[in-house]
Amino acid sequence: MAEDAKPKVTDWARLRRILSYLRHYKLFFVLGLLCTIMFGVTEAAVPWLMYALFEPERLEFLAGPEHVPLLLPVLFIGVFLLRGILGFTRFYWRTWMSQTISRDLRREMIDKLLHLPRAYHDRESSGVLIARIMHFVNQMLGGVIDVLVALCQDSARLCALLATLLFINWQYTLILMAAIPITLAVIVFFAKRIRRYAGHEASEVSLMTSAINDVIQGQALVKAYGGQDRESARLGSHIDRLRGVGLRQGVAIAINIPLSQLLVAVALAIILALLAADLLAGRMSEGEVSAFVFAMILIPLSLRGLANLANFMQVALAGAEKVFALLDAEAETEGGDHADAVRGDIEFDKVEFRYPGSDSEAALQGLSLRVEAGEKVALVGPSGGGKTTITSLLLGFYRPTAGRLELDGVPLADWSLADLRHQLAVVSQDTYLFDTTVAENVAYPSPREDIDQERLAQALQRAEASELVAALPEKEETMLGERGLRLSGGERQRIALARAFYRDQSLLILDEATSSLDSRTEEGIKKSLAEHTEGKTVLIIAHRFATVEIADRVLVIDRGRVAEQGTHAELMGSSQLYKQLYESQRNAAGGQQNSASGGQVE
Ligand code: ADP
Ligand code: MG
Repeated sequence: MAEDAKPKVTDWARLRRILSYLRHYKLFFVLGLLCTIMFGVTEAAVPWLMYALFEPERLEFLAGPEHVPLLLPVLFIGVFLLRGILGFTRFYWRTWMSQTISRDLRREMIDKLLHLPRAYHDRESSGVLIARIMHFVNQMLGGVIDVLVALCQDSARLCALLATLLFINWQYTLILMAAIPITLAVIVFFAKRIRRYAGHEASEVSLMTSAINDVIQGQALVKAYGGQDRESARLGSHIDRLRGVGLRQGVAIAINIPLSQLLVAVALAIILALLAADLLAGRMSEGEVSAFVFAMILIPLSLRGLANLANFMQVALAGAEKVFALLDAEAETEGGDHADAVRGDIEFDKVEFRYPGSDSEAALQGLSLRVEAGEKVALVGPSGGGKTTITSLLLGFYRPTAGRLELDGVPLADWSLADLRHQLAVVSQDTYLFDTTVAENVAYPSPREDIDQERLAQALQRAEASELVAALPEKEETMLGERGLRLSGGERQRIALARAFYRDQSLLILDEATSSLDSRTEEGIKKSLAEHTEGKTVLIIAHRFATVEIADRVLVIDRGRVAEQGTHAELMGSSQLYKQLYESQRNAAGGQQNSASGGQVE
């Protein structure tokens, strides 16, 4: 029992939290609720109109007997005009509320999304995140607004009808009211079930969104490998499961409604018999009986609304759970408040790092390295050695599990992350381009109107991308398509390099940034790097040894440690591993020095 009581407390807290989004719209909210309540109350007008029809003499307090036949239609039209106005206002209010609050929520969710730590994205699929922002916000607000409308409108109607009934015959009204708690008990019983199914549906929607996303992103692979049947079966099973939970939820709702109505109908039947007897015996007038019957018949309608209220509430809470899970996710720390011009002194001292949630061996195992400001250092080594991880730690994407990591003599954790990142330029190993113009991709994140055309042209030229862009249909203004898919891999890489050159960086990190380039283009970029990074610190993770040449020093990274270091010549003499890497690269490149698939370390 105590177990049962607990979730109710959190439900209540969650509900209060949803309602807290109304705080800026209090006045409008209250006015809308008042309209909704009045709309509910006016529904009790029908029994009264019936009363007046059977006993028109009761209207004589309003007008003379000769005017009463005219008064009836006037009252009738008046009531429906009022209902029309209230109904419109109520609906407009409801739409305005749900649209406004979903806007507020989505803005907050997007802000959160943009500040989630890398580790969160390692864990959650894009589908789950998209579903939270798109589907669950709607589900939650749809449910809440329905709850509010039903709660005000139906309970107002119920109260007005009960007042009418009590006024006419309070004894029979009490009999009728006895049926209400039983009905509500049934409703509560089913509500729990509906909540559970709504939760299942929610998870299925997320999984399905992920799966669709996966198939769309991987469409080229699906086609190339003829995976259509496999994907069709995979998505098909998601679709079937979604139907299954939807149906189970539907059944629970469907049973709920008639069952609760049936209970009320039994009470109605008993009262109908009593009313008939009273009418025949002359204990009640025709007007009283007809008004009572009309009011009584409208009661189940109000209860149906209240039954739905419980359903809506359960659905809304299931949505809220997902929405708040994102809003409550811990944002990336902003780091400390140290903000200074980055010089580029990097020191890793016995740094250990294990990816969160990973149970394989640590990615960095007591790695120590020093890079002096203005130095150009190449990192080479077998794939999986930890090179990319080093750059991720430098960018503050993750924090070391142990050891010391300093930049310019200040612990990295003390740097303001935004300020730090602003001064770094990175070309990561998986190039990402946005679905916007070349110019906006290169000058990212400058807004369109702030783009410096001269700097743009210069950056493109240094990245050997001028000719490539000149050949595009709309030059710098050409849209690149989702993930830049309108360009080849090597072309994408050059735009990403231009992005790094555009940024006025103090520390440049190139993570296999020339891996898809042909040797001639790579030569050009090597020259640009040598000429235009004078005095700047550059970390080059080299896929191929050609780029290593511009480095002052080479570090061989293997199994999360610096295995060897020195100049190229020194390492060729002293390091077995380096020599092996170099030889294998030369062999791979052998005979095709000028081809696009030059030798690779990995
Ligand atoms: P390199 O860039 O030298 O090829 P990485 O730094 O990318 O190597 O990877 C080092 C190790 O960390 C690898 O064993 C890899 O499997 C693991 N790793 C990389 N990224 C993640 C991640 N996001 N989550 C868990 N493990 C990871
Ligand atoms: Mg890597």
